[in-house]
Amino acid sequence: PPPPPRSGGARSAPLIPAPLPTGPVAAAAARLFSGAGGEAEAEGPGRDTAMLRHLLLKLRATGPVTVAEYMREALTNPGQGYYTRRGDIGESGDFVTSPEISQIFGELIGIWYISEWIAMGKPKAFQLVELGPGRGTLTDDILRVFKQLASLLSKCDVSIHLVEVSPKFSEIQALMLTGGKVQSNPEDESAYMKGVSKTGIPVFWYRDVQDVPPGFSFYLAHEFFDALPIHKFQRTEKGWREVLVDIDPEVPDQLRFVLSPSSTPATENFIQSEETRDHVEVCPEAGVIIQRLACRIEKDGGAALVADYGHDGTKTDTFRGFRNHKLHDVLRAPGTADLTADVDFSYLRKMTQGRTATLGPIKQREFLKNMGIDLRLQVLLQNSDDTATREQLLHSYDMLMNPKKMGDCFHFFALLPHHRLVQPERKHKPESKSPLLPVAGFGELLLQ
Ligand code: SAH
Repeated sequence: PPPPPRSGGARSAPLIPAPLPTGPVAAAAARLFSGAGGEAEAEGPGRDTAMLRHLLLKLRATGPVTVAEYMREALTNPGQGYYTRRGDIGESGDFVTSPEISQIFGELIGIWYISEWIAMGKPKAFQLVELGPGRGTLTDDILRVFKQLASLLSKCDVSIHLVEVSPKFSEIQALMLTGGKVQSNPEDESAYMKGVSKTGIPVFWYRDVQDVPPGFSFYLAHEFFDALPIHKFQRTEKGWREVLVDIDPEVPDQLRFVLSPSSTPATENFIQSEETRDHVEVCPEAGVIIQRLACRIEKDGGAALVADYGHDGTKTDTFRGFRNHKLHDVLRAPGTADLTADVDFSYLRKMTQGRTATLGPIKQREFLKNMGIDLRLQVLLQNSDDTATREQLLHSYDMLMNPKKMGDCFHFFALLPHHRLVQPERKHKPESKSPLLPVAGFGELLLQ
């Protein structure tokens, strides 16, 4: 079956007492119950989770919370959050991601960074910073490419910096990348863990991108932004209202969506005056992180590659849950399912505030095609003589590229310094202008 996309993250708005909504408002709120209109999975054991008990106590004491606060608790609460405790990626987990489907995915992304490193004049050092690395598979595949191109990178000082809040995932990443040989809380470092990759490259772990040392950096965020908490807003006859999570007074220990009785600071700040949609999701944390990346790229150089499912400011209700590869009611058994919302690329673009140029979003199948996935597939097919491997290669190619699977719904988006796309005017020597290399993936890959 096609892998369901999946999702984590933080920050709340003030708590507002929310009465039971009625009329069209109630209908709108009720529609949200199912999460993107999907069919909820049959409930398994453990509905009364420790997370649910924690939330019920909190809601009884202080009233309803924003969807963002709910999502942050459910996903990254240090004791009971989904990513902290249960989250797993792959067949045995709740969702599958592209790097887990095929090694080709990470290899092509590795080549993207090499190609940008060359286009940016082969700086003497770079940091590869991955946000939300999951099992660490993507960085592992990228490091294999760096090793294969060792002669090219021999004079370059490369280091890996992973931004991960989940202790469980950081342990899995450490095993994958270093064989588990890591040092916790190293002195003189802003990192909470460090080690050396199997290929001899230093690897550091942080909880926040702010802790990563400054310097020329390539950033990578694959299925990271969709895991960050969103605020949800509904247009009503009385104006914009924020969707909140509350206890259902009719059913014991069950949660429900309600609407704030009046506008909130969030409705005032996050809704654009020219907004035409009736329902809007905003992820301020994604905005803050993109702003940081854009500031760093503007100051120290580098680039950011963001890949996720999303839209360009057009979709409405995309909040959904996944458990065991099936849609899961977002309000049921919190902490046992992945919660996710589509990334709004138009919001990310806006939050760069013009500090960097942006490219995309472009569909995954177009990006991978531009990166030469067809050629790479042919080489791997030619090099394998057993039928099972060849079938596996073709099957995973279809998963990544088929428009009905991951080819069309996943998108690539990049932040680049302005001078990477537009050459600064050279008044005195216009003849010395050499043509700029196209940015691979968004155009043809021209490796020299
Ligand atoms: N990029 C991986 C994993 C995606 S799952 C892949 O494509 O396979 C999301 C990842 O982000 C997990 O590793 C999760 O623990 C991490 N994560 C979620 N919220 C985070 C946050 N606020 N800060 C840092 N990491 C976070």
